Parts: sequence; C-alpha cells; structure tokens
Amino acid sequence: MGIFGWSYPPGCSGPPDEDFPCEVCGLFPDDCICPECPICGEYGQPSCYLEHGLRRTEQQKFLKEIFDREMEKYIQAENAMWDDYMDDEERQAGEKLAAIFDDEKGGQC
Ligand SMILES: [Zn+2]
Ligand SMILES: [Zn+2]
Repeated sequence: MGIFGWSYPPGCSGPPDEDFPCEVCGLFPDDCICPECPICGEYGQPSCYLEHGLRRTEQQKFLKEIFDREMEKYIQAENAMWDDYMDDEERQAGEKLAAIFDDEKGGQC
C-alpha cells in the first residue's frame, strides 16, 4: 500500500509527468526557465501567473510562442496523417464493397 492507498503495477513507474513540457515557457522541465513561485513554491504553473502575482518574462513569452507554433504544426501534421489514413481505409472499403457487388452480380447472371 502506497501513501495514496494504491500503486502502479510493477514495471510501470507511474505517469510520465517529467515528459510534459512546461505550460508557461513550453520547455521540458530540465530546461524550464520559470522562476519559483514565492507563494506556493511551484515552477511553471499558469495559475501562479494569474493568482500569485508572477509575471511572464519576455523570454518565457517568446519560448512559449515558439512552442505553441511547433505544437500547432505537429497537431496539423498528425491530423493530415490521420485524414490520409482514413481516406485510404475508406477507399479500400469502397473497393472491397464494389468487388463484392460485382461478384454477386456475376453469380446471378
Ligand atoms: Zn517553465
Ligand atoms: Zn504559485
């Protein structure tokens, strides 16, 4: 029993928190440039910038902008890939269906 009353199965070390980029500067935790919040001691928490009086520096804004742009490109590429895949699937299904109909027609004659 862990502190939280449950634990991850062996071989699984839990959610990969560390692999998520910082929500404030868009950098991975290793590179995160966000200052520690004087109120709660957290780094890179968007809520600290809204509620705890932290201010984003030009560098943070700049890096996050780049990150957002890259992210958008990535999402668009993913969507395009998915669309291509769906197109392919649909076409194949259509061809298969057409072949079945052709067969049936042929059998009836
Ligand atoms: Zn950060
Ligand atoms: Zn805070």
